This record gives sequence, structure tokens and C-alpha cells, in this order.
Amino acid sequence: MKKMAAILLSATLLLSACSGNGETATTAAPETTAAETTAAETTAKAAEKDGAYTPGTYTASAQGNNGPVELSVTFSEEAITEITIGEHAETTGISDAAFDKIPGAIVKNQSLGVDAVSGATYTSNAILEAVADCVTQAGGDAEALRAVPVEEDGETANAVLEDAEVDVLVIGGGGAGLSAALSASQEGASVILVEKLSALGGNTFRCGGAFNTADPERQKDIPMTDALSSAVEKVLAHENVSEEHAKLKAEVQKQWGEYKASGNTMLFDTPEWHALQSIDAGDYEGNVELVRTLTSNTLDTLNWLTDNGVEWTDQVSTVVGALWNRSHQTPNNSGADIIAALEKNATESGVKIYLDSKAEELVVEDGKVCGAVVTNADGKKVTVKAARGVVMATGGFSANVEMRVKYNKQWEDIGESLTTNNTPGATGDGIVMGEAVGANLVGMGWIQLMPLNSVSGGGISGYVNSSLYCNKEGKRFVAEDQRRDVLAAAVLAQTDKLFYIVCDQKEAELRGMTPEVLGYMVQNGLVYSGETIAELAENMGVPADALEQTVAEFNEAVKAGKPDEFGRTTWENTIEVGPFYAPSFSPAVHHTMGGLEINGNGEVIDTHGQVIAGFYAAGEVTGGIHGTNRVGGNAVPDALCFGKIAGANAAANK
Ligand SMILES: Cc1cc2nc3c(=O)[nH]c(=O)nc-3n(C[C@H](O)[C@H](O)[C@H](O)COP(=O)(O)OP(=O)(O)OC[C@H]3O[C@@H](n4cnc5c(N)ncnc54)[C@H](O)[C@@H]3O)c2cc1C
Repeated sequence: MKKMAAILLSATLLLSACSGNGETATTAAPETTAAETTAAETTAKAAEKDGAYTPGTYTASAQGNNGPVELSVTFSEEAITEITIGEHAETTGISDAAFDKIPGAIVKNQSLGVDAVSGATYTSNAILEAVADCVTQAGGDAEALRAVPVEEDGETANAVLEDAEVDVLVIGGGGAGLSAALSASQEGASVILVEKLSALGGNTFRCGGAFNTADPERQKDIPMTDALSSAVEKVLAHENVSEEHAKLKAEVQKQWGEYKASGNTMLFDTPEWHALQSIDAGDYEGNVELVRTLTSNTLDTLNWLTDNGVEWTDQVSTVVGALWNRSHQTPNNSGADIIAALEKNATESGVKIYLDSKAEELVVEDGKVCGAVVTNADGKKVTVKAARGVVMATGGFSANVEMRVKYNKQWEDIGESLTTNNTPGATGDGIVMGEAVGANLVGMGWIQLMPLNSVSGGGISGYVNSSLYCNKEGKRFVAEDQRRDVLAAAVLAQTDKLFYIVCDQKEAELRGMTPEVLGYMVQNGLVYSGETIAELAENMGVPADALEQTVAEFNEAVKAGKPDEFGRTTWENTIEVGPFYAPSFSPAVHHTMGGLEINGNGEVIDTHGQVIAGFYAAGEVTGGIHGTNRVGGNAVPDALCFGKIAGANAAANK
């Protein structure tokens, strides 16, 4: 079976991965056991009722999460004997559990009543649907097979959590949770981490791996432009909104003055400027001290991650909504690399990880959070006592429509009309559990829409440096380097709430697109393409003369390097080297900025402004950092920095 390039667009960046490492998964009928014989007999009866299968191998496909999942099924006269997974574009890591478990369970039980794997529902359903199609092709009765009971799988690959006592309990196995678990363990604590889905990773796994930090070494060759200088001046000209803001602004003013006096022509950046820009981008609703804690720890955390096996490219760019050239990148533009490295190190460091284990409520004794009640992989409620503390790292609530609607104060409609690009695990559990023990919630009304949610199914570049956005009329409509809320609002006002990102071959190569991946996307209609702009326009269905003019004006603006009619200040390369590409996009619910209030130690604060003893939180479950609008590329550092801080502080809480 041919190796398959998986084409995924994480909201900010294109991820490419190979399905199941390109390996073909085959599930053959196992050695017969008593239980299997019973299941096989049941099926044989079901098949007998509607006539035996016609032996042979049949092929079908069904829609998974990222596209069709192809498979073939081999039948004897009485049974399904083998399921072979073919080509698909499902996300490695997220879909693995479905490919590992579902075909085996179908063959073993001779049933289509197998449960979907949590966290990989679309992939699971695609497998079940395609097998059902093959059953029908073979003359079997798929409906009858859906009713065949499924034996419990005694070979559960993962450990099952029982009542336990530990130093630190971490709830949630995304970036914040794994980073907290690893750091707590490195500080000498015994650690249990519970993850409610069948796979680790959460949104961190899905993310594009963009990580913002000032980094003198990697930024040293990026030129400063007039447009970037005017952006600094603009933020510095903002009136003081608080003492903390005035102090931060004064520090940046001093750094900026020294920078200008030095005659340096390369990019200006410092942790303080990163903080000030983030506060400004969040409309001064973020907590200045927390943001400063973040930006003064980002480079240390990046280096800590490097020490723990995470790789970063040397190139620094501006991911969409990042506003500045400080977005660092994993080699595959993927958070999967971060999760894999953290998982490996956490496990080696002694962290005990339990999947399919959902925390339900916190345990409080004498005013101290000292554990949680967890539903384990067998569906049984168990209690984990944590002597030093609990770190809540359950992520945001983008996948919880009810909570979105309840708290939203930013968008006209944030309900079912909008999809989300989040993990199904992002249901706000930690916010509910935290509130139940008195935690204060901050910034809950601020919900980020990601303008770059792929409609055509693919993507080339989530970077704004060398691409333009155009609408169905072939016209630009916004400064591409704007804040995400501005971009999303602008897109929602366009025809069909849709836009295209136009870029050229040079940009595609710069973003690591191989000819195979590009070919796959073009061939399967995931991106529009053309040898010339006119041909591209024709394939997109937009007026060719309008798009040609738009690209020509864009190229002039790049060469001028000055703010253009939309106020864009970030320019890098022109769009001139064919072939040209244009995937289409529409906004999706992406990030929830509000959550549990924390201080700089990662301690959770109650509604009276007091620290809740033993209770820590990190990542998207917290609020107070991003204000009304999160800067693109600031969330991964938020999760990983505060995870590291919270884990270490929980471990030290003896
Ligand atoms: C498609 C996409 C791309 C993105 N790209 C970027 C990017 O490139 N750069 C950037 O800075 N930001 C990016 N973001 C945002 C960023 O990825 C997230 O904000 C960040 O990773 C959140 O990390 P976290 O650990 O707080 O939450 P998550 O990574 O979501 O982890 C939370 C985990 O907790 C689990 N959980 C939830 N409830 C329970 C419970 N009751 N019991 C046990 N476990 C539970 C969830 O299943 C999940 O695995 C992106 C987001 C998305 C959706």
C-alpha cells in the first residue's frame, strides 16, 4: 500500500504527517477462543439469516476527520476474517487508537456494534461505516451486525487507575498538563496524570507548534523596517491604563530609545516589548504581571523543552495574529512533536499516566485541595489523593457550545452556526470543577475565532509574511498581519464568510511543502492552483482581472515595505513565482481566553482574592493572560511556561 501524505491544516499552520507512519495496518482474525467462537456463531447466525457472505475481499471508504478513510475487508463464507486499513489522511496520534482498536474489535466480535474510541470518534465511525459498506457488498446484513454484542476487551493496553496516593495529581494530558507533570517530577515529586480521552495531547497536539518568544540569536538576521518601527511607536503612544502598564511602558520606552540610539538595523525585541504588545493586543484586559511572568519565561521554557527533546527550526516568522517576528516553529509545524517529547520524558521521569480517566470533581479537606474523584477506564469512580497539590490543566471550552453561548460577550453568534477546530476534550471541565471549590473566573466572555479554518481542506502557509487574503471578488479586505479578532470579524463580513490565502511556490517551499504534499492537495482539490494568477483565479472562481490587480498591488507594497491602505506592516516576499496556490477558509471557534484566575506561581485564586491552598492551574483552563484577543503563537508558550511553573510549585508545596 502506497505511503500516504496526510494533509492537515491546523488553524494557524499547515501540518503534514504520515498516516500511521505510512504503515499499512492489517487486522486478521485471531486464534479462536471460546468467547470468539460465541461471537462468530452469533454472526454466522446473523449472516445465515440473510444468506452467507460471498467470500472475497471488498473495498470501501468513508469520511473520517480529515478526509476519506479507505479500507478493505476479507470475508469467508461465515465471517469477517481480515480488515486492512488503506489510504487516509487522519492525524497520527489522534487517530492511532481508533486504527489500533476498532478493526481488531470488529474481527474479534464479528460485530459492527463496537464503540467509537473517545477523542477519535470521526475516524472510528469512518472505519465502522466503511466496513459496513463492505459487509453489504459481500451480501451480509450490516444492520444485524450492529446489533451483535461486543465482548469487553480484556487486553486493555492502558493501565487502569485505582484509588491512589501521590504527591501531585495533574488533570489533563495536553501541553500544560504534561509540562506540569514533567516539571513536578523533575522536582522530586511522585506524579499521576489523568487524561479523559484515549490519547494524550489535547489542543497542543493539534496545534501548529508556533511558540512566541524574543530570542536574540534566532532573530538576529531579521531586518527592522519603518513599518515595524511605527508599530512600536503606536503601542508606546497608548495612554497609561494602570500603574503596572505605565511601569512596563516606561521600561520598553527606555529599551526602544537605547535601541534607536545604537543604530541597530535588525529587529527590535525584548520580553518587555513582547509583554506590552500582548497587553495592547488584548485591549488592556490582560493581567500585566501574569503577562510579564509569561514573556520573561518563554525563552527559558523553550530551552527547557529543547533540553527535553523538542526540536525547533532556526527560522522565526510571524504566525497569523502574532504581530511580530518571534514565532518559533517545530520542524513539522506540529504540536505532536512537543507532546511526544514531553510524554517520553515524563514517563521516563516516573510520571504515571492514565488514559480514558476523567476527573469529575476536586477533593477538598480543611480548605485545601488534596485530590480528585476520577472515573477510570473501566467506568469506576476512584479517588486520587495528592498530598502536595492538584494541577488543573484541562484546556478551554471551545467544544462546549452551551458554555460558549453562556459566557460569550464578543460575537453576535457563537453557537452551533460555528464549528470548532478544537479537540472534543475541550469542554471546560476544569473551569466547572474549579468554580465548585470557589475559584474566581476571569475573562470568560472573550472567545477567539480562528479566521484560518480550512474550507477547501488544505493549506499552504499560516504565516502572514508573504501571503495575501482575498475574498470571492478577488480583492483584499483586511491587513493580513492584524489581530485575530479583527481578521475574523472582517471575514464574517465577506461573501459566504469565506476567503482565500494566495501564495506562490516560493512561500510553499519555505513552509516545507514537498512536491508530494502539494501534488496531493492539488489533485484532491484541497487547494486551488494555477500556473499563472489568471489560471488560479479561474480555478478559484474569482474574477481574474481583479485577482491579477490585487497581486500586483500586493507586490508593490512588499517592495515599498510601508504600511499599505489596510495598514499592513509585515512584509517579506512578493507573490511572483508560479505555480500559485489558494486554499479557502472560514472562521471557527479556536480558543477561550477566560478561565480560572491564577497568580504568577500558577496558584488558583478564589472569589475573595485569596490563594486556594493546594490548587494550581495552567494553560487554556486559566484566564487573565490574553485579554480580549490572544496573540497568535502565545498560547503554546502560555500552556508550557505556566505548566512548568505550576508543576514545580506544586512539587515544592510540602
Ligand atoms: C488547531 C489549533 C492550532 C493551534 N495552534 C497554535 C499554535 O501554533 N501556537 C499557539 O500558541 N497556540 C495554538 N493553538 C492554541 C493552543 O494549542 C492551546 O491553547 C494550548 O495548546 C492549550 O494547551 P492546554 O494544555 O491548556 O490544553 P490542551 O492541550 O487542550 O489539553 C487539555 C487536555 O485535558 C483533557 N481533559 C479535559 N477535561 C478533562 C477531565 N475532566 N479529566 C481529564 N482530562 C481532561 C483534554 O482531553 C485535553 O487532552 C492552537 C489551537 C488549535 C485548536
